Amino acid sequence: MTAMNSANVRLTVPYAKIEIMSEKLHITAYSQSELADLVTGIGEPKYRAKQIFKGLHERRLRDFEEMTDLPKAFREKLELAATASTLSVESRYVSEDGTRRFLMKTHDNFPVETVFIPTENRDTICFSSQSGCPLKCDFCLTAKLGLLRNLTAGEIVEQVIIVLNDVYGVGRETPHGTNLVAMGAGEPFMNFENLIKALGIMSEEEGLFIVPNRVTVSTVGIVPKIYEFAALDKRPHLAISLSAPNDELRSRLMPVNKRWNIDELMTAAKAFERSLRRGERFTFEYVLLGGVNDSDAHALELADLLNKYELNRVKINLIPHNAAEQLDYHPPEPEQVDRFKAILESRGVSAYVRRPRGRDIYAACGQLAAKETPNLMQLASVN
Ligand code: SAH
Repeated sequence: MTAMNSANVRLTVPYAKIEIMSEKLHITAYSQSELADLVTGIGEPKYRAKQIFKGLHERRLRDFEEMTDLPKAFREKLELAATASTLSVESRYVSEDGTRRFLMKTHDNFPVETVFIPTENRDTICFSSQSGCPLKCDFCLTAKLGLLRNLTAGEIVEQVIIVLNDVYGVGRETPHGTNLVAMGAGEPFMNFENLIKALGIMSEEEGLFIVPNRVTVSTVGIVPKIYEFAALDKRPHLAISLSAPNDELRSRLMPVNKRWNIDELMTAAKAFERSLRRGERFTFEYVLLGGVNDSDAHALELADLLNKYELNRVKINLIPHNAAEQLDYHPPEPEQVDRFKAILESRGVSAYVRRPRGRDIYAACGQLAAKETPNLMQLASVN
C-alpha cells in the first residue's frame, strides 16, 4: 500500500489541481469515477468510491468518521488527505415567511450566501456561484461587494448539502420536488465550468438526485455562454435578467449591456429557444424599479421587443425591487405592477409577479451582501 499523505495524492490524482482546498482535497466535487481514481491511487478497492459517494451525497455526511460502513483505518487515511467540509455556517436567519438565509464562510474566509425558500408544494434552494459579484447592476446590493472569488464546484455542492441537512436532517432523503436555482450571489455563467461540474454531481441518482429539470440557472446575459449552455446535453432551465426594454436604459442599469447589447442578447435567446424541449419554456426576469423601468410605455416596448424576435416560448418574471439603504431605487406601486403585467398579457406575453421572500432577513433577490442582520432572530449555528 502506498504511504499516504496529501502531497502524494496530489501527484496521483489529476483532479486534485482543481479542488485542492488548503491542505486537503475537497472531495465533495468528485464524481464517482474521479473518486474511483482516488481510492485506487491509494491502493484501495474501487468499490469504496461508491460508498464514499453515497456517504457524501445520499446521506450528506460531512465527516468521514460518520461513514461507518468504511473500515476505520481507511477513514483515517481519507481524513489525512481529504475533507468534505470546507464551509462553515457563520449565521442563519429565519424570516417570518419561513425563508432561511445562511451566511457561510469558505476555508479562506470568503462569504457565501444560500437561501432556503419553502412553498406549499415544493422547496427551493437558491445557491451562490461566486463570493460577491463582478457585475455592477445598479439596483443590486450584491454588486457593492465586487467579485471576491469564484466558488469551487465543491463549495457549490456543499452549500446545498448544508441547507438540506439543516432543513430535513442529516441522512434523510431529499424530498422529491426540491428545486435548485443559481440565483444567489454572483454570475453563474462567469464560473461556468465549476457550475456545470457541481450540477452534474448533484444530479447523480446515487447522490442528491436533483435532476436538471428541477434546476434553473439565471444569467445577466453572458451571450457566448448562452449558446454553450443551449448545446449541453442535459441542461437545466434558463432565466435571463433583462430588466429594461432598450439599450439606453439597460446600459444605465446593467453595465454588462455595453459588452453584449439587447440585439445580441435576443439573438442568443432566440437560439436558446430552439434548444427547448417539448413543453419547456424559458424566463426573462425583469426587476421593476419604481419610476425607472415600470411605465406603461416600458411594458409596451418590452412586449414589442419579444414579438420582434418572435420569442414565443418565454415567460416574464416581474420582480418588484427589493429596497436597501445603499440603493437609489424604490419598489413600484402595486397598481403599476398589475398594469405592467396586464399590458404584457394583452400583447400575448405571459407574465408572473414574483412574490418577494425573506425580505426581512435580507434574503430576497438582490439583497445578498454578506451582511449580518442585527435585531433579527438568529438561530443557533448548525455547524
Ligand atoms: N447574476 C445572475 C444571477 C443573480 S439572480 C443574474 O443577474 O441573473 C438574481 C436576480 O435578482 C436577477 O434577476 C437580478 O436582476 C435580480 N435582482 C438584483 N437586485 C435586485 C433587487 N434589489 N430587487 C429585486 N431583484 C433584484
